[in-house]
Amino acid sequence: MSKGRLIVFSAPSGCGKGTMLAEILKDDSFYLSVSATTRAPREGEVDGENYHFLTKEKFEELIANDGVLEYAKYCDNYYGTPLKPVEDYLNAGKNVILEIEVQGAMKVKERMPDALMIFVLPPSVGELRRRLEKRGTESLEVIEKRVSAASDEIKCAEKYDYVIVNDALEDAVNDFKAVIKAEKQKTKYAGELIDEVIKNA
Ligand code: 5GP
Repeated sequence: MSKGRLIVFSAPSGCGKGTMLAEILKDDSFYLSVSATTRAPREGEVDGENYHFLTKEKFEELIANDGVLEYAKYCDNYYGTPLKPVEDYLNAGKNVILEIEVQGAMKVKERMPDALMIFVLPPSVGELRRRLEKRGTESLEVIEKRVSAASDEIKCAEKYDYVIVNDALEDAVNDFKAVIKAEKQKTKYAGELIDEVIKNA
């Protein structure tokens, strides 16, 4: 069985990536990595499902033991990708999605240059602020921090392989599927397909 593809999926908070991912994950060839974080759970978030919620001490222990593929500090909290499950799922042939911010994404690109880098854009920064206000899960102060972080992050979108604008959900998900399809047909990843064609002489 061939190994799965590592997919970095970044989007400033409020870009609707949660709903996009819910659609994408209906296809079970994809696995969404569960990150570790030191931020407090939001209402309804479940430990081990949405995140592994850790204390700062536990998180620093994980870093010290080389337990993370990458990590970053974002809006005063640590976020990181536990390494072992990523390796296990890739070896099992799953396409592993890392839903991570830009600093961590750049570290993954350095460490695993074959990772497929996708950045999701909001239609505009103004629309992003409106979505965060409507979601109402953060205070106004945190919303301003996130909007400012988002503007900085968007400037890094050019470092990714693809950008997808999430205006209408269905279009954005179709764009994601189109990217995955195109990538599969890159000669670099089409070895198995080419072998099959030759075998069937
Ligand atoms: P939130 O607090 O809204 O769940 O996430 C805040 C930011 O942290 C988002 O941009 C999200 O993509 C990012 N994030 C979540 N998990 C990770 C991770 O494991 N590593 C890194 N570098 N960023 C992450």
